[in-house]
Amino acid sequence: MKYRLLAPGPTPVPERVLLAMGGPMLHHRTPAFEQVFEQCRTGLQALYQTKNDVLILASSGTGAFEAGIASFLSPGDKVVAIHNGKFGERWAKMAKAYGANVVEVKTTWGKVTPIAEVKAALDANPDVRAVFIVASESSTGVRQPVEEVSALVKDRPDTLLFVDAITALGVWSIPTDVLGIDVLVTGSQKALMLPPGLGFISVSDKAWKAMERAKNPKFYFDLRRERDNQRKNQSAFTPAVSLMMGLREALLMLKEEGHPNVFDRHARLAKATRAAVAGMGLSVFAERPADSITSVQCPPTLNGDAVYKTLRDRYNITIAGGQDHLKDGVFRIAHLGYFDELDIITVVAAIEMAVTELKFPVTLGAGVAAAQKSFLGK
Ligand SMILES: *Cc1c(COP(=O)(O)O)cnc(C)c1O
Repeated sequence: MKYRLLAPGPTPVPERVLLAMGGPMLHHRTPAFEQVFEQCRTGLQALYQTKNDVLILASSGTGAFEAGIASFLSPGDKVVAIHNGKFGERWAKMAKAYGANVVEVKTTWGKVTPIAEVKAALDANPDVRAVFIVASESSTGVRQPVEEVSALVKDRPDTLLFVDAITALGVWSIPTDVLGIDVLVTGSQKALMLPPGLGFISVSDKAWKAMERAKNPKFYFDLRRERDNQRKNQSAFTPAVSLMMGLREALLMLKEEGHPNVFDRHARLAKATRAAVAGMGLSVFAERPADSITSVQCPPTLNGDAVYKTLRDRYNITIAGGQDHLKDGVFRIAHLGYFDELDIITVVAAIEMAVTELKFPVTLGAGVAAAQKSFLGK
């Protein structure tokens, strides 16, 4: 059966991008590759809406976040880690591994972090060096209040805002410079429609200044060395040449579609998916759903892990199950990257068939019809 991938990373890779990566190997110390590098850098800056450096690393998104912690912080630094899911928890753990003094602003999974709690943590800790937030918490599908948090951090000269935008950049507009985001991280295998293996990190002037006093150990992820090389369209170490050939093509595709149209498309797909969930008599788990992933709350009579496994085994579709304590309670449909309207119709149809096989009562076609109506504006 045809394979269909609707997980929050890796996501499907367009044929054009696959072809761009299939050419002969290019040496990275050549004018031809420098040109690729330059197009990747400027394309990323456009998507990030920034004049800052956006550095390209041969790592997953987690590596790019680690590069930020290693480069801009010191052992003992106070960090406010905002978390309400698996990925936010990861950054708190990572900061602790580097010896940071982590103040956790923790919210129940599925809920949005109340901005008042962030403000209280900042007011109580004037010496905070960094605030971490996950724009789209992929484990639950919640969209976090990045704009409001950025307003709290922007004018604090010694506090950096780190944003994990791994399933947000390329899904909705994130104006890095307008919001004053110091460090914005994403990875290749989500909305950027590439295979896994590249991490991206933007760095503000405030962060470069902080790097002068930062004492965390670093070598591969020393961003100052990367900056000095990448400004010359080189990298300190061997770059992921083929992935960057693909990156240039993917960025070109996004530019051709037009970034506002890319964001509109994601909003449209997300809205229809949510309508389909309601049409099937189910509900969305996230209090404020992100346009990248729809997490579906399962009633006690429906096991989320069984839905995930039925789609996998019976229909060759990979969605995502729930993580940790949500393993049986939710399933997640990702629609970020290379997706269109009929991809949504297909997965909804398959879910209706899967839950029917699992003896959950659903009117066949009700979710599909709800999605179709949403697309047609009816
Ligand atoms: C996928 C994901 C990550 C992890 O990225 P890797 O590329 O697997 O290291 C981190 N944060 C969020 C929100 C993600 O969706």
